[in-house]
Amino acid sequence: MTDAETEAARHREKMEKRKAVQDAEVAEKTIEKGLLIVNTGPGKGKTTAALGLMLRALGHGWRVGVVQFIKGAWDTGEKHALKTFGDRIDWHTLGEGFTWETQDKARDIAAAEHAWAKALDLMADPTIRLVVLDELNIALRYDYLDLDAVVAAFRARRPDLHVVVTGRNAKPALIEAADLVTEMASVKHHFAAGVKAQVGIEF
Ligand code: ATP
Ligand code: MG
Repeated sequence: MTDAETEAARHREKMEKRKAVQDAEVAEKTIEKGLLIVNTGPGKGKTTAALGLMLRALGHGWRVGVVQFIKGAWDTGEKHALKTFGDRIDWHTLGEGFTWETQDKARDIAAAEHAWAKALDLMADPTIRLVVLDELNIALRYDYLDLDAVVAAFRARRPDLHVVVTGRNAKPALIEAADLVTEMASVKHHFAAGVKAQVGIEF
């Protein structure tokens, strides 16, 4: 055997072993369940990752629901793009753009409660398989909603319903209740270099 052939044979043997380990690992995982997914952390990508999951769900013919808890005034590209899916998406922008924008706590709380009531409706709709609660973490962080009640509603969701929660500073109780938690880390962001919000990237 030439050196190259010996190397190729060694590689094949190594990969066969790795595949056997991986196949065994995959075969062990047999549970089917609706997931509580949390995208948090200071880096960019929490909302866009949730939108990516929506696209994946739509591709399987599912109906999906969305509640945007903040930034109600933003005219985002995704909202226009997803309109083409018609009633397969139940989309609600209910945020007042709260926190430092509104400076009116009573109004923020009312807006958060209204958005949460809509979230409960979507979660109770048996035709919907995935619900995205965008920036819910912000409403929880400012105690605009009762954390225990929110976590209890997630725990009581029907077994095949996936829920995605986004926003910085996810509360520990929510992380505890979640199945999948991803912390986006900011390695570098163009805002720091003076680049403003870019159409198609930020909104
Ligand atoms: P996106 O909607 O782009 O996925 P996100 O949901 O992760 O972002 P948010 O906390 O909702 O982030 O903030 C939304 C806006 O803040 C976006 O315009 C985003 O580019 C910007 N942003 C996110 N991370 C950072 C950061 N580390 N520094 C500055 N701006 C940021
Ligand atoms: Mg976001």
